[in-house]
Amino acid sequence: MKDLFREFDFTKVGYYQSMVESAGIKTFVRNRDLSGLAGEASIMPDLWPTLCVVQDEDYDRAMKIIQDSVMDNAGRSDIEVTCPACKETNPGNFDLCWSCGEAIVVPDEAG
Ligand SMILES: [Zn+2]
Repeated sequence: MKDLFREFDFTKVGYYQSMVESAGIKTFVRNRDLSGLAGEASIMPDLWPTLCVVQDEDYDRAMKIIQDSVMDNAGRSDIEVTCPACKETNPGNFDLCWSCGEAIVVPDEAG
């Protein structure tokens, strides 16, 4: 078990989990149930939801998937998009809904 990605916002952790798992890599999210914590937890990263790979040998591949996604989507992270299926709010750089996995259509601002 190796830590891949840690973020106070479970939305992102869940998104990366579905992306890494879709590549056939087994993952585990630690502190999944603590995402409702507020206050002090936000300055205590040890309590944040953490995405881990179950098999250490998958770590490099999983990390590459996450990094590629961050690079690809860096420009779209400042908008929010509502999932057409479940109505959850997703950051604009998500291709799939973190909650239900539905494809998200991002409004094309370029025109
Ligand atoms: Zn959804």
